[in-house]
Amino acid sequence: MKTPVPDYLQHVLTVCHDNDQGALADYIPELAAVDPNKFALALTTVDGTIYSTGDDETEFTMQSMSKPFAYALALQHLGIPAVLEKVGVEPSGEAFNQISLDKETNLPKNPMINSGAITTHSLIPVQKGISRAECLRRFLSELAGRQLEFDKQVYKSEVKTAFRNLSIGYMLRTVGVLDSDPVEIVNGYIKQCAIKVTVKDLANICSVLANGGVQAKTGKQLLERDVVRQVLSVMMTCGMYDAAGDWLTTVGIPAKSGVSGGIIGVLPGQVGIVVFSPKIDEHGHSVRGVDIFERLSRDMGLHLMEGT
Ligand code: GLN
Repeated sequence: MKTPVPDYLQHVLTVCHDNDQGALADYIPELAAVDPNKFALALTTVDGTIYSTGDDETEFTMQSMSKPFAYALALQHLGIPAVLEKVGVEPSGEAFNQISLDKETNLPKNPMINSGAITTHSLIPVQKGISRAECLRRFLSELAGRQLEFDKQVYKSEVKTAFRNLSIGYMLRTVGVLDSDPVEIVNGYIKQCAIKVTVKDLANICSVLANGGVQAKTGKQLLERDVVRQVLSVMMTCGMYDAAGDWLTTVGIPAKSGVSGGIIGVLPGQVGIVVFSPKIDEHGHSVRGVDIFERLSRDMGLHLMEGT
């Protein structure tokens, strides 16, 4: 007999529970103050059915898990060619916060590292009186099916210590990739990172990507199909930064991590998967999160290269 999904998820959480390696992301002071023991897992299938376990009501900030969605908004409004003129799609093989550009094009290598994400943030269309971060908050709220909020404490805390991202912003302004005030853009990017979610919100958001851009509950096409394909392709090759090859071989699911300790994964045509556990490794990936994804991929045969 097959184990029911909720029992299986609980089992996976229990098996991975004792792994206490990693450390909190202390370069953002507010993130160093979170409870390191929180642990949650959620799945939403393409028909909108959600399964979750552990601390599934705990809110945390999206951090870099916001990057694919800012990219999606930019692509949807400007089209793929226009966005490619500002940010590439090649894996960088470098850390997420590397201060570097592609040597040939002088553009950020991809939208998943900070230089590319700060650029992508600048490409979110602003409407009158609505900031780019607010525009993304509204979009993610629609995808999640509830009103999301900003975590003002985390935002303020990161703005105060954003020296590295400011360096990246000034570099981008110097080469003309950004064409307006880099401080304003970097602050907006940090605000986008401070959108608060639970694993259930993220699983619902990811299920829309898994479902070709259609939200199962409403039947609405919230993202165009070619945008979804572009976003998932970039998540697959660049979402896990300088551990992308390791992730692709062991897990094989398009994914994105955040230094708050979340990892999102999208299995096209099937399911959105989200784990949350705050202690991260040297790449900025949740340690227990990676463990869980490896197990789920193995146990459920989710690796995209595995065939049927
Ligand atoms: N806000 C964080 C930063 O820019 C996001 C990084 C991450 O989650 N990897 O440093």
